[in-house]
Amino acid sequence: MSLTRKGLIAITGTTGVGKSQLAIELARAVNGEVINADALQVYKGYDIITNKVTSEEMLAVPHHLLGFVDSSKEYNVRNFEKDALQKISEIHDRNRVPILVGGTNYYIQSVLFRKSLIKNDDYAAGAQSKLPDESAPVERAFEISKEPKTTQELWEELKRTDPVMADKWHPNNRRKILRSLEVLHATGRKHSEWIKESEDVRNKEESLRFPTLLLWLYADKDILNKRLDDRVDKMVERGLFNEIAQLAKDLNDTSALSGSSDDFSLGLKQAIGFREFEPYLKAKATMFAGRGVEPMPETEEIESLRKSGLDDMKTSTRRYAKRQISWISNKLFPECRATMAKETKAYAFILDASVLEHWDSSVREASTGIAKRFINSDILPDATSLSPTAAKMLAEIKDKPSSLLAWKRHYCSICSKTADEARDGTAREVWLSGDDEYSQHLKSRQHKKNLRYRKRVAATSCSDSLKGE
Ligand SMILES: [Zn+2]
Repeated sequence: MSLTRKGLIAITGTTGVGKSQLAIELARAVNGEVINADALQVYKGYDIITNKVTSEEMLAVPHHLLGFVDSSKEYNVRNFEKDALQKISEIHDRNRVPILVGGTNYYIQSVLFRKSLIKNDDYAAGAQSKLPDESAPVERAFEISKEPKTTQELWEELKRTDPVMADKWHPNNRRKILRSLEVLHATGRKHSEWIKESEDVRNKEESLRFPTLLLWLYADKDILNKRLDDRVDKMVERGLFNEIAQLAKDLNDTSALSGSSDDFSLGLKQAIGFREFEPYLKAKATMFAGRGVEPMPETEEIESLRKSGLDDMKTSTRRYAKRQISWISNKLFPECRATMAKETKAYAFILDASVLEHWDSSVREASTGIAKRFINSDILPDATSLSPTAAKMLAEIKDKPSSLLAWKRHYCSICSKTADEARDGTAREVWLSGDDEYSQHLKSRQHKKNLRYRKRVAATSCSDSLKGE
């Protein structure tokens, strides 16, 4: 089989859902080669904590950008974009199919789309990207050059000069408020105008690099959480603690060499489990210090540190999976849908991997069929026809990414309380980030309770202070 056009298959989904396995199965079915798009798996070693596939599991399928960066080196999304594009071009030249697979969504996005779409969205709620903030020094300069102002005063200044942006930031978010003011002062144009312009350009241009087939491997939340918990237990059995101890030592050596500690932030440090088990491993190391090789039973205290490390790691893993899902459904899928109006298209599908017994039919066979059609430029099936889960989820996904400017903060006057109203005497303001969160809030039990309370108070006190309800 050969590519009738220089296309790309991308597999994404949460951690622990089976992406690597699917990539290998697909590669075998369509003459493909796998390119890793996981920010931690690019590093050499540390196979347990980074969840790398073993060479046996690879079944002789070529894997690229996997375990090739020294753990003492920094590797970022710019390096990745360059390396991945190089690999894709080489794979195309071999007349084979590149299969990009990974859970680091900004890595995936940097390859799919010509211009990084992250920057603007960095401001939006929920963005997990940690791109360096280029504006930081200017921002500080701007602040210093001014009489120190309270955050409230700065917000009011922004409300006067660029109300669209003022509506987006929480009045306490000094950094964001300063950033918007700084843009206006430095460029003479409103921050909101800059954003609108860049979004307009983005909406017009062809941003997709390759005809793309995007496969989102998805598992029901409860089922996935159970699988993730089990995987953490398995990682511990396989020797997670030895890897963490080794990583701590390597990082220590590296920072000793480079003469810095915190500013040299190593990618691997972000691996889930490293921070979570730090207290346990530290306590253990202190305890064993000077005891030579004599084995010693772990005390109750150390045992409880181990347990809480385990709980924390499970919680962090679940949280990470949740962020990944939100990014894919709110960002990546709408971006792909928006390409339907353009020349180069990204076809996006959801594969339901909730029931592992059905993997062969609902994941492997389904995706292989779609991939073959994609490669031959045949008509693709309707994405909603794959499974009830896919249909349900696709119905909730927006047709294009929402404009940053449409994203507003909402203040709930029903749930906010003045010091007089609050039982404990502390004033409380309730802000919601964006329309979705706000509409959810309006349906919440807490909000309805406060609404009933306020209506009761209004009815009994003959007060006219609660208008506009
Ligand atoms: Zn409310």
